[in-house]
Amino acid sequence: MTAAAEKTAPAPQRPAFGTVLAPLMAVATYQNGRWGQAEVRPVGPLELSPAAHVLHYASTCFEGFKAFRHADGSVHVFRMARHIERMRQSARQLVLPQPDAAQLAEMVTTVIARCRDSVPEAPGALYLRPLLIGTTANIGAAATPASEAMLLVLASPVWDYFAGGMKPLRILVDDVNTRSTAQMGMVKTGGNYAAALGPTLAARAEAQVDQVLFCPGGEVQETGAANFLLLREGALLTRSLDGTFLHGVTRDSLLTLARDQGFKVEERVFTVAEMLEWAKTGEAALSGTAAVLAGVGTLIHRGSEHRVGSGEVGAVTRALRAQLVAIQQGTAPDRHGWLTRIAG
Ligand SMILES: *Cc1c(COP(=O)(O)O)cnc(C)c1O
Repeated sequence: MTAAAEKTAPAPQRPAFGTVLAPLMAVATYQNGRWGQAEVRPVGPLELSPAAHVLHYASTCFEGFKAFRHADGSVHVFRMARHIERMRQSARQLVLPQPDAAQLAEMVTTVIARCRDSVPEAPGALYLRPLLIGTTANIGAAATPASEAMLLVLASPVWDYFAGGMKPLRILVDDVNTRSTAQMGMVKTGGNYAAALGPTLAARAEAQVDQVLFCPGGEVQETGAANFLLLREGALLTRSLDGTFLHGVTRDSLLTLARDQGFKVEERVFTVAEMLEWAKTGEAALSGTAAVLAGVGTLIHRGSEHRVGSGEVGAVTRALRAQLVAIQQGTAPDRHGWLTRIAG
C-alpha cells in the first residue's frame, strides 16, 4: 500500500492492542523444586492466595512476541527461542524459578495450534504473552524468593498497529528521571512499567507527547516500552547492550537486516546532544514487537522542540520496517531462520 492509500483507506474498527484474549491459555505450576505438567484451559480467573509473593513483592516477568498467518494459511512464530531465553534470564535476575525452555516452547506452540482460528490475517498477528509470577503465600518474604510459581501463556489477536496511518511520534527527552534501576533495566518485569508511568503521564499532560525517552545523566537509553534507534541512509546508531535497558528482539532483528545490506551499524553510548545533532538531518524511531518500528517526528528537550529530519516518518525507517514485516508475513525469505512453523 502506498503512503497515500494508507492514509485514506477506511480503517476498520478493531479492538485496541491487547484488549482481546484468545479463548485458551496454558498454565504450569512450580512446587517442591520442579515444574509440573502444563495444561491448556479456557481463559478465566486464577486462584491465588492474597498473600502471594507477586502481589506484595513484584516477583513477576513477562514476554511479548507474535505469530503470523502467511498467505498459504500456515502459521509461524517469530524468534520464539530468543524470547524464551530472555524470559529465563528475567527469571534468574528476579530469583524466580526459571521456566524450562522446552516446556515453555511447547506451551506456546500448543496455545497457538489450539487457537489457530484466532490468528488474524496479515497485517494482524497473534500476540503471545508468557507470564511468570511468584505464588508462595508469605507476606513476610520481602527478602526471600518465591519457592512456588505459576507460568502462563496468554494469546491475543492484534490488528494493524498503524491502521490510522503512520503518524510521526512526539517524544519528550527526559535527562533527569530513570525508567528503571541499573540492575533491572534489562528485565521485562512489571515494576519497571509502573516506574515509567508517572513521568510518562506527566509528560503527556505537559507537552502532549506520546512517550518519554529516558536519558539519565544525558545518555540516551530507551522509552517506557521500546528501544530507540537513530537512522539515516546507510547508517544506524543505537545504545550498546548493557544492564540499563531492555534488549529488544526487534532491535536485534533490525540491526541484523541493516548490517545485511551494508549499513554502518554503530552500537555505543551516545548523548542527548549527539542525538539532537543527528536529528537535524537524520531519522529517529522506536522499535518493539507491537509496532516493529515507529518514526519519531519531534523531540522535546528542556522546553525546545527539535524537528527530526522532515518531521515525517523517514524513508529509511519505512524501508527497514517493511523488510522485517515482509519476513514475518512470509513475503520475503527467512534467511536467518527466525520463523518456527506451527504444525497443522
Ligand atoms: C519489550 C520491550 C522492548 C522491545 O522488545 P522487543 O523484544 O523488541 O519487543 C523495549 N523496551 C522495553 C522496556 C520493553 O519492555
